[in-house]
Amino acid sequence: MHPQEVLLVSKPVVDNLPGIAQPLLGWYDQHKRSLPWRDNPTPYRVWISEIMLQQTRVEAVKGYYQRFLEIVPDIASLADVEESVLLKLWEGLGYYNRARNLQRAAQKVVQEFDGKLPASYGALLSLPGIGEYTAGAIASIAFGIPVPAVDGNVLRVFSRLCGSFADIALPQVKEAWRKTVPIAQPPNRPGDFNQALMELGATVCLPNTTPKCNSCPLKTLCEGAATACADQLPIKSAKKPRKVEQHTVILVVADNQVLLFQRQHKLLAGLYEPLNLLGHLAENEIIGTIQELGGKVNTVEALCNSKHLFTHVEWQMTGWLAECSYFPPPPGAAWANRIALTDTYALPSAFRAYTKDWDRWLATEEG
Ligand code: SF4
Repeated sequence: MHPQEVLLVSKPVVDNLPGIAQPLLGWYDQHKRSLPWRDNPTPYRVWISEIMLQQTRVEAVKGYYQRFLEIVPDIASLADVEESVLLKLWEGLGYYNRARNLQRAAQKVVQEFDGKLPASYGALLSLPGIGEYTAGAIASIAFGIPVPAVDGNVLRVFSRLCGSFADIALPQVKEAWRKTVPIAQPPNRPGDFNQALMELGATVCLPNTTPKCNSCPLKTLCEGAATACADQLPIKSAKKPRKVEQHTVILVVADNQVLLFQRQHKLLAGLYEPLNLLGHLAENEIIGTIQELGGKVNTVEALCNSKHLFTHVEWQMTGWLAECSYFPPPPGAAWANRIALTDTYALPSAFRAYTKDWDRWLATEEG
């Protein structure tokens, strides 16, 4: 089927697309935000920023990006860095497989591409963790190759621009947009064009709200604005609901230290966490479990409830603080003092609601 049939748009709408490049780039040159990865966009810097920006807000990424480049400034150092250091640098960003795939890809680049990211869309796609969007972003921004980089922002802008009611959750619709976007992409500034679309989507053609059409450089060319349907677009069918899991999170503390366990589960593998048990346990069950693990409990205190959303699962957590006088660490566990908590162990943000309780307890003990 022809892409415009999949996208439910007419030929004249598609034929008008080359007209968006000039006003879009003019607007981008004047209004683009100053972002650390836009200065000196080497292939490595573009790659790191694009991976960090997946599923994460720009403001949240800035600090991580700069710290990462200080410790891991190039592909050779990324290929060699200790996994514990890598995970600590990624702590709080979530989706930790992104960090592991970065390292796998760096190792492949060292072995197969002479230590340099390849200037080829197809070769970039062969690297772990690099999909069509990221390959398109690196190829166009760092190497000037005219390929699209179609993310959620671009799907939204183009759906509105063309007045398309095709469901952007469907793979065939995404593929049809990947074929259609290049019609508008100027060969002399492919990377700026891709970034300008993302910028427009992030600052003007906003998600989940009425777009700011009166501030948009594409208003006179926009089918969605002309037909007053922009705020109904894009169409995106609902994902399957997340599985819900109940967890009991227990901060085991003793002697100015907290007990951490290294996760073996595929989700958050290799990161550290407090004692994390399935189900919502009662106080006597918590004491019993710690005793079975070899610990001697002095006091138990209930903490807040919290929840954390992963892509496919939701954790509903009850929190407890258990002060122990004796607890030899079981295999895979370690006692951590305040310095080790900050500098050594990478903890997922799923437990953020409880880290303040650690801080409070450690401060009381140290004081
Ligand atoms: Fe989006 Fe409005 Fe611009 Fe159309 S005119 S691209 S709907 S902001």
